Amino acid sequence: MTKYVYLFREGNASMKNTLGGKGANLAEMTNIGLPVPQGFTVSTEACTRYYADNKTVAPEIEAQIFTALAETEKEYGKKFGDLNDPLLVSVRSGARASMPGMMDTILNLGLNDVAVLGLARLTSNERFAYDSYRRFIQMFSDVVMEIDKQKFHHALEAVKTENGCKQDTDLTAENLKEVVRRYKEIYVNAMGTEFPQDPKTQLMEAIKAVFRSWDNDRAIYYRRMNDIPGDWGTAVNVQGMVFGNMGDDCGTGVAFTRNPSTGEKKLYGEYLMNAQGEDVVAGIRTPRPIDTMKDTLPEVYEQFVQIANTLESHYHDMQDMEFTIERGKLFMLQTRNGKRTAGAAVKIAVDLVEEGQLTEEEAVLKVEPKQLDTLLHPNFDTAALKAATLITSGLPASPGAAAGALYFTAADAAKAGKEGKAVILIREETTPEDIEGMDMARGILTARGGMTSHAAVVARGMGRPAVVGASALHIDEKSKSVTVNGKTYHEGDKVSMDGTSGNVYEGMVATVETAVTGDFAKLMSWADKARTLKVRTNADTPRDTKQGVEFGAEGIGLCRTEHMFFEASRVKAMREMILSDNAQQRKAALARILPFQQKDFEEMYIALEGRPMTVRYLDPPLHEFLPQLGMKDEIAAIAKELGTTSEAIVAKINDLHEFNPMMGHRGCRLAVTYPEIAEMQTRAVIQAALKVRRETGLDVKPEIMIPLVGTVKELKFVKSIVLETAEKIFAEQNERIEFQVGTMIEIPRACVVADKIAEEADFFSFGTNDLTQMTFGFSRDDAGKFLDSYYSGKILESDPFARLDQEGVGSLVKMAAEKGRSARSGLKLGICGEHGGDPSTIEFCHNIGLNYVSCSPFRVPIARLAAAQAAIKEKQAKK
Ligand code: PEP
Ligand code: MG
Repeated sequence: MTKYVYLFREGNASMKNTLGGKGANLAEMTNIGLPVPQGFTVSTEACTRYYADNKTVAPEIEAQIFTALAETEKEYGKKFGDLNDPLLVSVRSGARASMPGMMDTILNLGLNDVAVLGLARLTSNERFAYDSYRRFIQMFSDVVMEIDKQKFHHALEAVKTENGCKQDTDLTAENLKEVVRRYKEIYVNAMGTEFPQDPKTQLMEAIKAVFRSWDNDRAIYYRRMNDIPGDWGTAVNVQGMVFGNMGDDCGTGVAFTRNPSTGEKKLYGEYLMNAQGEDVVAGIRTPRPIDTMKDTLPEVYEQFVQIANTLESHYHDMQDMEFTIERGKLFMLQTRNGKRTAGAAVKIAVDLVEEGQLTEEEAVLKVEPKQLDTLLHPNFDTAALKAATLITSGLPASPGAAAGALYFTAADAAKAGKEGKAVILIREETTPEDIEGMDMARGILTARGGMTSHAAVVARGMGRPAVVGASALHIDEKSKSVTVNGKTYHEGDKVSMDGTSGNVYEGMVATVETAVTGDFAKLMSWADKARTLKVRTNADTPRDTKQGVEFGAEGIGLCRTEHMFFEASRVKAMREMILSDNAQQRKAALARILPFQQKDFEEMYIALEGRPMTVRYLDPPLHEFLPQLGMKDEIAAIAKELGTTSEAIVAKINDLHEFNPMMGHRGCRLAVTYPEIAEMQTRAVIQAALKVRRETGLDVKPEIMIPLVGTVKELKFVKSIVLETAEKIFAEQNERIEFQVGTMIEIPRACVVADKIAEEADFFSFGTNDLTQMTFGFSRDDAGKFLDSYYSGKILESDPFARLDQEGVGSLVKMAAEKGRSARSGLKLGICGEHGGDPSTIEFCHNIGLNYVSCSPFRVPIARLAAAQAAIKEKQAKK
């Protein structure tokens, strides 16, 4: 019989796949003798089985749950559902990868109308008993029954107001009885039945709710953001309760072994006396810094510091721990590798190597490549910051600079973000429901909550700058406004916020670029040592080229030449070329384009300092350069500029109209129709290369790339133009240069006949944007409109235009790579679609033996790290 339920003492840290992260670590802490309230874990397999069985828990799993429960009862000498001294438990989710704030927790399960009396008698603490009961009703109603938690919040606030209580802790036992009464009333009104009194029913319902929460919208969204497969499922941890809310010698807290914001090696965390866990995380009361515990509970503090050290050296990583103190006794409720900012991640990885805890390669694996993004993006310009008007300050929860317009709800923020607006999400405090709005925001600002509040933890995980607990902010969500120090700001008003200092400023403060230095540079040097895959950049301008080289690019993998003509000063010549009626006119227009193009190439060759550059020949649908038919003024202006009539322009636009421009007259098809374009581009590349080599002595390595090839004859046709033109130039200049002619592989047909194409190509570069478009038959420009339904319908887990569909599109890439090399053994292979900067795709590219990936300049360090991780993982797997 399959084992679905494990006591903590039956597991260990290596069983993450079965027990989830939390369960495996609870087991490990138990094994190394730390004080852990005992309990059991219902496995992730039980969760996947729950879904396979049409969302029911199989009888054999239920039986195993109650057997484990009986063991736990023995451990505590208490009975579940006992009316005098009941065993109470917490029920918490725990997937393989930690998903903070995404899954749900229920505490104090096992209480009912009678057991609460028993608990009160036994602890001689009626207040505590009713406080526990009201929390349980609230959590059960919210998490299991999905009753709006605001209703409970309002009821609690009402009782507080009626009794003149400021804090929750001011509520008396009698007040709390009233809260319980009102909560139960809310339950009956919402559900039409009484609050369930049978603890076994409570337990099974809670377990099912955790299983269900694996598939709520927030979890699905989080998984998509973090590349977590949907079929992993979550485990459920059922653990004996210890109480932080039993009185003034009780408390609860969370702490990190190092500062998760900066990486500083110092215990960092917060705790609250007389409180339960969710009070700390939800930011309802403002907790106290952990080191003040030294004075209030010195012995507990000492013990905690020791445990923290033990755990960090046991896991060789920064730990994020939850603990509870019950009547002066310390219990560990959780440990895990802590989420951290990119800056902290880099510092901690480097420090751990220097402390002898990790090897360089292990350290390289510790940093999430995508996280580096925040280190590569701008910070505020110091001078501009000095001149800015400070609005207020809060806690610096997640570093980085962000500026944008204020939005007061997650939904508004998500909408504005999708419209491409720079958004600052401002909230009283955030909740897991806000995840999408947080993701779409440039920065997150809250009025309440500490460094471990939901906003802080999630923002750090996402790499979004965040300032939390800015308590001077008086937010009115209804009127979408915030008042601070007498001044009111409304939706759409611009602010700037600095997640490193915690300051918030008026207006949009200017930012400056960052550089790869210090620990970051050190980590990257370790990554470079480990990787075999080369990393190039996609760049179309000298500026992008310089940026890419600064970030470590080993060449240009894709220069999209059409992008060089969008600038106003150049588009005229391009239009002349497009509007030409015959080859002669076209050649004349191209002759005007040539100097622009050649000059750009020259500057880029210089910026590359001898690194290779792949120049992709013109590949736009031509109409992109012309105005749309309705734009009468623009058309008249162009007509004037070109010395023709509006009618003539309109006729030409009509002529160029295509029903499906993405599959239209673009790529090598343009060169087939107008060979003079390929001629001009060859002149620009070769003449620039010769000139730069002559003038600088640099070893210039031109690579000419023909796009959108589907048959070898297309490639041959265009290649012959290139070769003939090059020979002409060599004769004219009496000087030669080595160059390569290759092709993009971005049409499914090209993958199928890649061996034939390879006979004519010096290299392949996979254009996975078009290859994805044409393999799925999804329009690159329109798929975003329906992909959301694909995620919620579980048809796709992630955007195939961002993360390579390895099963389908990836198979084509692999096949083309193999076929290509079978025909030409030294064939150079790269990828230059958007996927070239995506870590999971990069790992795939490493595994199928590509030579390089190419991505936008800002993703170059991400790609270097991801390539290193792929190489190290492969090495480790071989051991
Ligand atoms: C591609 O199709 O993947 C590619 C890199 O080319 P473009 O995005 O310019 O079509
Ligand atoms: Mg393409």
